[in-house]
Amino acid sequence: MDRREFLKHAALSGLVAPGDALAAARPAGPVVNDVSTLNPVAVAAEARPRTTEEVRAALRNRPGAVSIGGGRFSMGGQIAAPDSLHLDMRAMNQVVAFDPEERVVRVQAGMTWRDLQDVIDPHDLSVQIMQSYANFTVAGSVSVNCHGRYVGRGPLVNSVRAVQIVTAGGDVLELTRSDESELFGAIFGGYGGLGVLTEIELELDANGRLERVVEEVSLEEYPDYFRTRIAANDRVLLHNANLLPSDSRKLRAISWIVTDKPLTVTDRLIPRNLDYSRFQNVIWAVTELPGGHRLREGMEQELLEAEAVVWRNHEASLDTASLEPRTRAFSTYLLQEYFIPVENCVSYVRAMTRVLNGQDVEAVNISVRHSPADARSLLTWAPVEVFSLVLYYKQRTTRRASRKVGIWTRELIDAALARGGRYYLPYRLHATQQQFERAYPEHPRFARLKARIDPGGRFQNLLLSKYLK
Ligand SMILES: Cc1cc2nc3c(=O)[nH]c(=O)nc-3n(C[C@H](O)[C@H](O)[C@H](O)COP(=O)(O)OP(=O)(O)OC[C@H]3O[C@@H](n4cnc5c(N)ncnc54)[C@H](O)[C@@H]3O)c2cc1C
Repeated sequence: MDRREFLKHAALSGLVAPGDALAAARPAGPVVNDVSTLNPVAVAAEARPRTTEEVRAALRNRPGAVSIGGGRFSMGGQIAAPDSLHLDMRAMNQVVAFDPEERVVRVQAGMTWRDLQDVIDPHDLSVQIMQSYANFTVAGSVSVNCHGRYVGRGPLVNSVRAVQIVTAGGDVLELTRSDESELFGAIFGGYGGLGVLTEIELELDANGRLERVVEEVSLEEYPDYFRTRIAANDRVLLHNANLLPSDSRKLRAISWIVTDKPLTVTDRLIPRNLDYSRFQNVIWAVTELPGGHRLREGMEQELLEAEAVVWRNHEASLDTASLEPRTRAFSTYLLQEYFIPVENCVSYVRAMTRVLNGQDVEAVNISVRHSPADARSLLTWAPVEVFSLVLYYKQRTTRRASRKVGIWTRELIDAALARGGRYYLPYRLHATQQQFERAYPEHPRFARLKARIDPGGRFQNLLLSKYLK
């Protein structure tokens, strides 16, 4: 849909929530939006740099606010600011240097994990830490300090050796983990507020075979189960546990364990552009039909009971297209994530279930993961060892629906804060300023650093302007 059609559609239907008035008020310039479709922002101009030099030239040639986008999977306007120059980083997608012996690769910022897997898989190497899906850009992942299902590994900062950034003034800085500089730590979870990431150097792991093991565990037993059966077993590489929709006192724990058994799937990577229309029918049925959740539970059980031995890279190359509904015009799917100190996890899940049931939330899935404490990043989401609760939900695209989601989201954030927890920042901006400041008490240090390195406040987006003014 072009901009004219988009504005007409938005105006006629009243569908689009925040940011739409902003977009509709401005007649010229491109509109930047993210996967949720809820955050259209009219920017002044867009550039698609291919090299660090082109990033510098773009900053030099146009003064004023700059916003930065990668794969555009964040969901609250983290990629755009009104009237800014928008840097679309996806054309910076090349490998800069690769040493398979040393297991180190240096990539341009806009390369996706899936693109990188094509390069490293023939050398039997894997990305060390990444999300569950492979469509995200490396710099977008650094900027949120993503994590995945990798047991004991924590956030992405733990696998990055060095980053190159271009500052607001056009300087090119090389920052390394071993320097332990404040700026290096602030880039992770810095949401593009400090500079443009142009290159990233990553440590890699060996690829290998993994076998899926599925067990049902009660919620009360889960922390102990995780400690004794998962964390203590160094053959478990990936792990998460899903709350059963029919009974939130039970979890289905899914682990991928190192094995030398014969493969049941021989593809080394999940092919691109697969047809996921069957998945789309299932997503629709689960959320729209009476008893849909039970239907899914039955289907999932059948699927998970089947024997599976796959390459690590195969399980790491899941495609977000498999989650994509047929249309996001009337309703859209979003994520939230809460990081709760291990000892408070069970009580948080109970509180979360109460809020979701009490407010009739269309929760599609709730998944639990684990992370050790992270002392490297400044705006860390794991100041202590945590379990994380990932909520995938559906909402209508109206303003009214967004207001309602805002109410229960703030309740979930309060419940997390009351238990010493934090919430994840790449999602919708429902938190109050006070909630943000309680969740991220390091914010004044981040603001001071930003004032030093970006004194004109050029790097902007809706997250930064709402909470880190
Ligand atoms: C279906 C789905 C599954 C997800 N699963 C997980 C998961 O398992 N674990 C997890 O941790 N997160 C998960 N996420 C969240 C995801 O990690 C973030 O939204 C991440 O930012 C996506 O990367 P991106 O390339 O789309 O970044 P974008 O959304 O494009 O950008 C995110 C932020 O990074 C900044 N940025 C991007 N490129 C640069 C650059 N070159 N220089 C400076 N700043 C830059 C942007 O300004 C923005 O603030 C998931 C999201 C979705 C939609």
